[in-house]
Amino acid sequence: MNRKRTAAAVGALTLALMSTSCASETNEVHPAQGEVAAQKDDHRFVPDYEKAEKRTDWSAEKLMRDAGFLEDLSAYATSLVKLPQDIPVGGISCGEPNLYWTSKEKAIIACYEEVTEMRELFRASDKADHRPSSSSSVDGRVIGAMSGMFFHELGHGLIHLYDLPAVGKEEDDADQLAAVVLINDGKQGQEYLMDMAEAFRLLGIVEKLGGGDKNQESEYADVHSLNEQRYYNLLCYQYGAHPEQYKSLVGKGGLPKERAEDCPDEWKQAESAWTRLLKPHLR
Ligand SMILES: [Zn+2]
Repeated sequence: MNRKRTAAAVGALTLALMSTSCASETNEVHPAQGEVAAQKDDHRFVPDYEKAEKRTDWSAEKLMRDAGFLEDLSAYATSLVKLPQDIPVGGISCGEPNLYWTSKEKAIIACYEEVTEMRELFRASDKADHRPSSSSSVDGRVIGAMSGMFFHELGHGLIHLYDLPAVGKEEDDADQLAAVVLINDGKQGQEYLMDMAEAFRLLGIVEKLGGGDKNQESEYADVHSLNEQRYYNLLCYQYGAHPEQYKSLVGKGGLPKERAEDCPDEWKQAESAWTRLLKPHLR
Protein backbone atom coordinates (compact mmCIF):
# COMPACT_ATOMS: atom_id res chain seq x y z
CA MET A 1 0.00 0.00 0.00
CA ASN A 2 2.56 2.43 1.09
CA ARG A 3 5.97 1.84 -0.31
CA LYS A 4 8.26 2.13 2.65
CA ARG A 5 11.11 -0.30 2.73
CA THR A 6 12.63 -2.64 5.19
CA ALA A 7 15.77 -3.30 3.19
CA ALA A 8 17.50 -5.64 5.61
CA ALA A 9 14.52 -7.98 5.82
CA VAL A 10 14.04 -7.98 2.06
CA GLY A 11 17.75 -8.59 1.55
CA ALA A 12 17.59 -11.68 3.74
CA LEU A 13 14.52 -12.88 1.89
CA THR A 14 16.09 -12.34 -1.53
CA LEU A 15 19.19 -14.22 -0.42
CA ALA A 16 17.08 -17.09 0.87
CA LEU A 17 15.36 -17.35 -2.50
CA MET A 18 18.48 -17.19 -4.64
CA SER A 19 18.95 -20.96 -4.67
CA THR A 20 15.39 -21.45 -5.97
CA SER A 21 15.85 -18.88 -8.67
CA CYS A 22 19.22 -20.26 -9.83
CA ALA A 23 17.84 -23.80 -9.97
CA SER A 24 15.02 -22.84 -12.29
CA GLU A 25 17.41 -21.03 -14.61
CA THR A 26 19.89 -23.90 -14.94
CA ASN A 27 17.51 -26.85 -14.99
CA GLU A 28 15.08 -25.76 -17.66
CA VAL A 29 16.43 -25.13 -21.12
CA HIS A 30 14.38 -24.53 -24.23
CA PRO A 31 16.82 -24.78 -27.13
CA ALA A 32 14.12 -24.13 -29.73
CA GLN A 33 13.48 -20.67 -28.30
CA GLY A 34 15.81 -17.75 -28.01
CA GLU A 35 17.66 -17.65 -24.72
CA VAL A 36 15.96 -14.48 -23.56
CA ALA A 37 12.48 -15.76 -24.40
CA ALA A 38 13.17 -19.04 -22.58
CA GLN A 39 14.31 -17.21 -19.45
CA LYS A 40 11.25 -14.96 -19.50
CA ASP A 41 8.86 -17.87 -19.74
CA ASP A 42 10.56 -19.74 -16.94
CA HIS A 43 10.57 -17.04 -14.31
CA ARG A 44 7.94 -16.85 -11.66
CA PHE A 45 6.74 -15.20 -8.50
CA VAL A 46 8.28 -17.14 -5.62
CA PRO A 47 6.34 -17.24 -2.33
CA ASP A 48 8.24 -17.43 0.93
CA TYR A 49 7.23 -16.93 4.56
CA GLU A 50 9.75 -15.77 7.09
CA LYS A 51 9.11 -16.76 10.67
CA ALA A 52 7.16 -14.00 12.41
CA GLU A 53 9.45 -12.06 14.72
CA LYS A 54 6.86 -10.86 17.21
CA ARG A 55 4.22 -12.70 19.15
CA THR A 56 1.60 -10.31 17.74
CA ASP A 57 2.51 -11.43 14.19
CA TRP A 58 2.12 -15.15 14.86
CA SER A 59 -1.57 -15.45 14.05
CA ALA A 60 -1.11 -13.25 10.96
CA GLU A 61 1.58 -15.59 9.67
CA LYS A 62 -0.70 -18.54 10.43
CA LEU A 63 -3.62 -17.01 8.56
CA MET A 64 -1.48 -16.35 5.50
CA ARG A 65 0.03 -19.84 5.56
CA ASP A 66 -3.30 -21.61 6.22
CA ALA A 67 -4.99 -19.68 3.41
CA GLY A 68 -2.09 -20.39 1.04
CA PHE A 69 -2.16 -16.62 0.50
CA LEU A 70 1.28 -16.05 -1.00
CA GLU A 71 1.23 -19.36 -2.89
CA ASP A 72 -2.10 -18.65 -4.60
CA LEU A 73 -1.28 -15.07 -5.52
CA SER A 74 2.19 -16.01 -6.78
CA ALA A 75 0.82 -18.83 -8.93
CA TYR A 76 -1.94 -16.62 -10.30
CA ALA A 77 0.38 -13.72 -11.11
CA THR A 78 2.86 -16.12 -12.72
CA SER A 79 0.08 -17.45 -14.94
CA LEU A 80 -0.68 -13.89 -16.12
CA VAL A 81 2.65 -12.29 -16.97
CA LYS A 82 6.11 -13.19 -18.18
CA LEU A 83 8.96 -12.04 -15.99
CA PRO A 84 12.55 -11.03 -16.69
CA GLN A 85 13.64 -12.67 -13.43
CA ASP A 86 12.17 -14.52 -10.45
CA ILE A 87 10.28 -12.14 -8.16
CA PRO A 88 10.16 -13.00 -4.44
CA VAL A 89 6.79 -12.59 -2.73
CA GLY A 90 7.57 -12.48 0.96
CA GLY A 91 5.63 -12.64 4.18
CA ILE A 92 7.69 -10.93 6.87
CA SER A 93 7.55 -8.99 10.13
CA CYS A 94 8.23 -5.40 8.98
CA GLY A 95 7.65 -3.45 12.20
CA GLU A 96 4.66 -1.65 10.67
CA PRO A 97 1.57 -2.46 8.58
CA ASN A 98 2.42 -2.45 4.88
CA LEU A 99 2.20 -4.32 1.62
CA TYR A 100 4.64 -3.00 -0.95
CA TRP A 101 6.73 -3.39 -4.08
CA THR A 102 10.40 -2.62 -3.76
CA SER A 103 12.22 -1.67 -6.97
CA LYS A 104 15.59 -1.97 -5.27
CA GLU A 105 15.15 -5.63 -4.34
CA LYS A 106 12.53 -6.34 -7.00
CA ALA A 107 10.14 -8.07 -4.61
CA ILE A 108 6.60 -7.81 -3.28
CA ILE A 109 6.42 -7.83 0.50
CA ALA A 110 3.33 -8.53 2.61
CA CYS A 111 3.96 -7.50 6.20
CA TYR A 112 2.31 -9.59 8.90
CA GLU A 113 1.38 -6.31 10.59
CA GLU A 114 -0.85 -5.49 7.59
CA VAL A 115 -2.96 -8.57 8.34
CA THR A 116 -3.32 -7.46 11.96
CA GLU A 117 -4.33 -3.93 10.94
CA MET A 118 -6.88 -5.19 8.41
CA ARG A 119 -8.34 -7.58 10.99
CA GLU A 120 -8.76 -4.73 13.48
CA LEU A 121 -10.34 -2.57 10.80
CA PHE A 122 -12.95 -5.14 9.73
CA ARG A 123 -13.66 -6.23 13.32
CA ALA A 124 -14.26 -2.64 14.37
CA SER A 125 -16.50 -2.14 11.37
CA ASP A 126 -18.57 -5.22 12.26
CA LYS A 127 -19.02 -3.89 15.77
CA ALA A 128 -19.80 -0.32 14.83
CA ASP A 129 -22.05 -0.65 11.84
CA HIS A 130 -23.80 -3.52 10.25
CA ARG A 131 -23.51 -2.42 6.69
CA PRO A 132 -23.92 -5.58 4.65
CA SER A 133 -20.86 -5.00 2.50
CA SER A 134 -19.86 -8.63 2.48
CA SER A 135 -21.08 -11.93 3.75
CA SER A 136 -17.56 -13.24 4.36
CA SER A 137 -15.81 -13.57 7.71
CA VAL A 138 -13.33 -10.98 8.97
CA ASP A 139 -10.41 -13.16 7.89
CA GLY A 140 -12.09 -13.78 4.52
CA ARG A 141 -12.26 -10.02 3.99
CA VAL A 142 -8.64 -9.59 5.13
CA ILE A 143 -7.55 -12.11 2.49
CA GLY A 144 -9.77 -10.40 -0.10
CA ALA A 145 -8.54 -6.87 0.60
CA MET A 146 -4.90 -7.92 0.76
CA SER A 147 -5.24 -9.86 -2.49
CA GLY A 148 -6.40 -6.64 -4.13
CA MET A 149 -3.48 -4.79 -2.60
CA PHE A 150 -1.11 -7.48 -3.90
CA PHE A 151 -2.30 -6.80 -7.46
CA HIS A 152 -1.88 -3.07 -6.84
CA GLU A 153 1.77 -3.82 -5.98
CA LEU A 154 2.01 -6.04 -9.04
CA GLY A 155 1.05 -2.92 -11.02
CA HIS A 156 3.98 -1.00 -9.51
CA GLY A 157 6.24 -3.98 -10.18
CA LEU A 158 5.29 -4.26 -13.86
CA ILE A 159 5.61 -0.51 -14.41
CA HIS A 160 9.18 -0.67 -13.08
CA LEU A 161 10.25 -4.06 -14.48
CA TYR A 162 9.10 -3.16 -18.00
CA ASP A 163 9.51 0.61 -17.84
CA LEU A 164 5.85 1.04 -18.74
CA PRO A 165 4.63 4.61 -19.21
CA ALA A 166 2.57 5.87 -16.28
CA VAL A 167 0.65 8.98 -17.25
CA GLY A 168 -0.64 10.71 -14.15
CA LYS A 169 -0.38 9.18 -10.71
CA GLU A 170 1.29 5.78 -10.70
CA GLU A 171 -0.72 4.94 -7.59
CA ASP A 172 -3.97 5.33 -9.53
CA ASP A 173 -2.58 3.21 -12.37
CA ALA A 174 -1.70 0.48 -9.86
CA ASP A 175 -5.26 0.56 -8.45
CA GLN A 176 -6.51 0.26 -12.03
CA LEU A 177 -4.43 -2.86 -12.63
CA ALA A 178 -5.77 -4.41 -9.44
CA ALA A 179 -9.32 -3.70 -10.65
CA VAL A 180 -8.64 -5.10 -14.14
CA VAL A 181 -7.14 -8.33 -12.81
CA LEU A 182 -9.80 -8.89 -10.14
CA ILE A 183 -12.83 -7.99 -12.25
CA ASN A 184 -11.69 -10.20 -15.12
CA ASP A 185 -11.05 -13.05 -12.68
CA GLY A 186 -14.82 -13.44 -12.17
CA LYS A 187 -16.93 -13.81 -9.05
CA GLN A 188 -14.16 -14.44 -6.52
CA GLY A 189 -11.97 -11.62 -7.85
CA GLN A 190 -14.94 -9.24 -7.83
CA GLU A 191 -15.63 -10.10 -4.20
CA TYR A 192 -11.99 -9.39 -3.39
CA LEU A 193 -12.33 -6.03 -5.13
CA MET A 194 -15.29 -5.18 -2.87
CA ASP A 195 -13.20 -6.13 0.19
CA MET A 196 -10.36 -3.90 -1.04
CA ALA A 197 -12.77 -1.01 -1.66
CA GLU A 198 -14.30 -1.53 1.79
CA ALA A 199 -10.84 -1.39 3.37
CA PHE A 200 -10.25 2.02 1.76
CA ARG A 201 -13.66 3.26 2.93
CA LEU A 202 -12.86 2.20 6.48
CA LEU A 203 -9.33 3.65 6.38
CA GLY A 204 -10.88 6.93 5.25
CA ILE A 205 -13.19 6.91 8.29
CA VAL A 206 -10.31 6.06 10.64
CA GLU A 207 -8.23 8.92 9.26
CA LYS A 208 -11.08 11.36 9.73
CA LEU A 209 -11.54 10.20 13.32
CA GLY A 210 -7.79 10.60 13.91
CA GLY A 211 -8.46 14.05 12.47
CA GLY A 212 -6.77 17.38 12.70
CA ASP A 213 -5.93 19.79 9.90
CA LYS A 214 -2.29 18.78 9.87
CA ASN A 215 -3.23 15.17 9.29
CA GLN A 216 -5.54 16.16 6.48
CA GLU A 217 -2.91 18.33 4.78
CA SER A 218 -0.45 15.44 4.72
CA GLU A 219 -3.14 13.24 3.14
CA TYR A 220 -3.62 15.81 0.36
CA ALA A 221 0.12 15.84 -0.26
CA ASP A 222 0.45 12.05 -0.33
CA VAL A 223 1.37 10.19 -3.54
CA HIS A 224 -1.78 8.10 -3.11
CA SER A 225 -5.20 9.48 -3.87
CA LEU A 226 -7.37 9.89 -0.77
CA ASN A 227 -8.77 6.64 0.61
CA GLU A 228 -12.28 7.84 -0.19
CA GLN A 229 -11.29 8.48 -3.81
CA ARG A 230 -9.71 5.06 -4.11
CA TYR A 231 -12.92 3.56 -2.69
CA TYR A 232 -15.12 5.33 -5.24
CA ASN A 233 -12.73 4.57 -8.13
CA LEU A 234 -12.86 0.84 -7.37
CA LEU A 235 -16.66 0.90 -7.10
CA CYS A 236 -16.74 2.76 -10.41
CA TYR A 237 -14.72 0.05 -12.21
CA GLN A 238 -16.80 -2.71 -10.63
CA TYR A 239 -20.05 -1.07 -11.67
CA GLY A 240 -18.69 0.07 -15.03
CA ALA A 241 -17.64 -3.46 -16.01
CA HIS A 242 -21.02 -5.01 -15.15
CA PRO A 243 -23.67 -2.28 -14.69
CA GLU A 244 -26.64 -4.65 -14.45
CA GLN A 245 -25.01 -6.97 -11.95
CA TYR A 246 -23.71 -4.15 -9.73
CA LYS A 247 -26.48 -1.55 -10.00
CA SER A 248 -26.93 -1.74 -6.21
CA LEU A 249 -23.56 0.04 -5.88
CA VAL A 250 -25.16 3.22 -7.20
CA GLY A 251 -27.06 5.50 -4.86
CA LYS A 252 -27.09 6.15 -1.16
CA GLY A 253 -23.69 5.54 0.45
CA GLY A 254 -22.30 4.22 -2.82
CA LEU A 255 -21.47 5.72 -6.18
CA PRO A 256 -23.23 9.01 -6.90
CA LYS A 257 -25.43 8.69 -9.99
CA GLU A 258 -23.48 11.42 -11.82
CA ARG A 259 -20.22 9.49 -11.47
CA ALA A 260 -21.84 6.15 -12.25
CA GLU A 261 -22.97 7.35 -15.68
CA ASP A 262 -19.38 7.57 -16.87
CA CYS A 263 -18.13 4.39 -15.19
CA PRO A 264 -18.65 2.05 -18.16
CA ASP A 265 -16.37 4.37 -20.18
CA GLU A 266 -13.88 4.69 -17.31
CA TRP A 267 -13.73 0.91 -17.04
CA LYS A 268 -13.26 0.42 -20.81
CA GLN A 269 -10.44 2.97 -20.83
CA ALA A 270 -8.66 1.39 -17.86
CA GLU A 271 -8.98 -2.15 -19.18
CA SER A 272 -7.92 -1.19 -22.69
CA ALA A 273 -4.89 0.81 -21.46
CA TRP A 274 -3.56 -2.00 -19.29
CA THR A 275 -4.27 -4.67 -21.91
CA ARG A 276 -2.33 -2.69 -24.52
CA LEU A 277 0.55 -1.94 -22.18
CA LEU A 278 0.91 -5.53 -21.02
CA LYS A 279 0.30 -7.25 -24.36
CA PRO A 280 3.98 -8.05 -25.04
CA HIS A 281 4.39 -9.35 -21.50
CA LEU A 282 1.31 -11.54 -21.09
CA ARG A 283 1.58 -15.32 -21.18
ZN1 LIG B 1 1.09 1.88 -4.45
